[in-house]
Amino acid sequence: MEDCLFCKIIKGDIPSTKVYEDELVYAFRDINPRAPVHVLIVPKKHISTLNDLQPDDELLMGHIALTTKKIAELEGIAESGYRTIFNCGKDGRQMVMHIHCHVLGGKLLHE
Ligand code: AMP
Ligand code: ZN
Repeated sequence: MEDCLFCKIIKGDIPSTKVYEDELVYAFRDINPRAPVHVLIVPKKHISTLNDLQPDDELLMGHIALTTKKIAELEGIAESGYRTIFNCGKDGRQMVMHIHCHVLGGKLLHE
């Protein structure tokens, strides 16, 4: 998707601080962190919102869930705990229309 911010980040056209990458996902630090650890996990495949998921995406979404665990281990928050969030649509306050999982850890700054 040419106009998608996160597709541009995945391609490297917009800089980001990478935390983890594999063939299916890219994970990087949120530019406006709301907790000491705030990482976004995005699928390399462009999917706009959770509403756009198809049955074929089941493995990919499972992979994102397993990646949250990997990020928590890498960031040293697996034991202390963390929060994972997918925002969807206007009322869900989704600002970037490429699905992403927020991983928030350390002391949460905002409830
Ligand atoms: P959401 O509201 O769920 O769509 O979250 C989008 C997130 O992307 C917000 O937490 C933003 O701070 C973050 N964000 C926006 N632009 C960038 C960027 N260039 N690099 C890293 N994170 C970004
Ligand atoms: Zn995209």
